[in-house]
Amino acid sequence: MSTSSPLSTAPSTRALSFEEARHLVELQAAGVCPGDTETVDLLASLGRVLAEGIVADRDFPPFARAARDGYAVCAADLAEVPARLEVIGEVKAGDWPDPGVCSVGRGQAVGIMTGAPLPAGADAVVMVEHTSLAGHSLEVQRTVRVGENFVPLGAEARAGQVLLDRGHRLDHAGIAIAASVGKSSLQVFRKPRVAVLSTGDEVVDIDATPGPARIRNSNSYSLAAQIQNAGGEAVRLAIAPDERGRLRALIEEGLKSDLLLLTGGVSMGKYDLVEQVLGELQAEFYFTGAEIQPGRPVVFGSYRGWCGAGALARVSAPASPSEPARTPKPHRNYFFGLPGNPVSTMVTFELFARPMIEALAGMTPQPLIFPRARLKSEIRSKTGLKRFLPAVLSGEFENAEVELARWQGSGDIAALARANCYVVIPPDRERIVAGEWVALLMR
Ligand code: AMP
Ligand code: MG
Repeated sequence: MSTSSPLSTAPSTRALSFEEARHLVELQAAGVCPGDTETVDLLASLGRVLAEGIVADRDFPPFARAARDGYAVCAADLAEVPARLEVIGEVKAGDWPDPGVCSVGRGQAVGIMTGAPLPAGADAVVMVEHTSLAGHSLEVQRTVRVGENFVPLGAEARAGQVLLDRGHRLDHAGIAIAASVGKSSLQVFRKPRVAVLSTGDEVVDIDATPGPARIRNSNSYSLAAQIQNAGGEAVRLAIAPDERGRLRALIEEGLKSDLLLLTGGVSMGKYDLVEQVLGELQAEFYFTGAEIQPGRPVVFGSYRGWCGAGALARVSAPASPSEPARTPKPHRNYFFGLPGNPVSTMVTFELFARPMIEALAGMTPQPLIFPRARLKSEIRSKTGLKRFLPAVLSGEFENAEVELARWQGSGDIAALARANCYVVIPPDRERIVAGEWVALLMR
């Protein structure tokens, strides 16, 4: 069940600061539980959230592992260089140096390849680049410290240690870890189903030929892509007209999913009916506006429904298959009303809807971090709102710089296509000069 808090019980009709609004979403997201789990093949787990911890099945590395090609030596033999050692053998990756046959005594060296186990008696590896070999006689030109150029047994992880926690979203590095402990399939959380409901009399399906005053529905598609990217599964509903009855029916349909995202109809216009219809359904509003641009009219709330078969439980999944089937329980369905302007929809999704989807997907909460880059050309802004303006991050290597994209406001998806991030402008800044470090929301 979601947590109740003073913030959550009193619908807020004032616009919150960005940080207040974000924290409120995070607070609610912290109270949701993910749904059932499923087992997927290792490679199919990319982007999925672990429902099990991944544990080291052995020490990592499982033997003292050479980190360089060279010679296993006793460091004390190289206190003074050049030094001369006798090469008594060789260990390549995959060999197991039998201590009875291949161990390094004083004045001796064993040829060793990267990834091979360090033979007994050796306490360092000297790189081949610092040696010259004539027959079995090795001249070493550099000293080494004890422990240099090899990784001790178990230094990376000990057997039984948790390498990845439940709640970790798998990327290629996570997949490498699972592979290295021999997991060819993984238990992950089922993806939450996120309903997308675009509203507006002017909005038509993308396959239709739009009339002169109509526009195609791009929001349902950008949102579906963002949902997928955040670890959810989008369920695109029919377009809702600005008409109470049909809008209500579609909202009720959307509330059967794990989360409902509406776009459009949350501004102050005469036909912006989304809040009114949600109010008729006794929905609870946490905020109905945030001091941001674009996206000021964003709405966040929940609806108390019943959690039965099919719906994602806001209760823990059964501990075992023998546990009795869940009886329906009251639960909250969260919704966001995102402003309809396409850039506003995209920005408010990233700022507010993403953490809720991640929580429903079972992911451990992540703080939102804005990395910084140097501003290429001056920005003049109005105070009062935190702004997330489309921008182009360019340059090369360490010399990244950012400048605002030219745009015609939050309906301008063409400008957004030219941009690759947003510059975050604090509400109290009127002027930011070229060369200053500015915060970015990455896309
Ligand atoms: P609204 O938030 O309903 O006032 O809409 C704001 C602007 O976004 C208007 O110009 C709408 O035509 C546009 N818009 C609303 N919904 C969509 C949509 N699904 N796809 C593209 N643009 C939309
Ligand atoms: Mg509208």
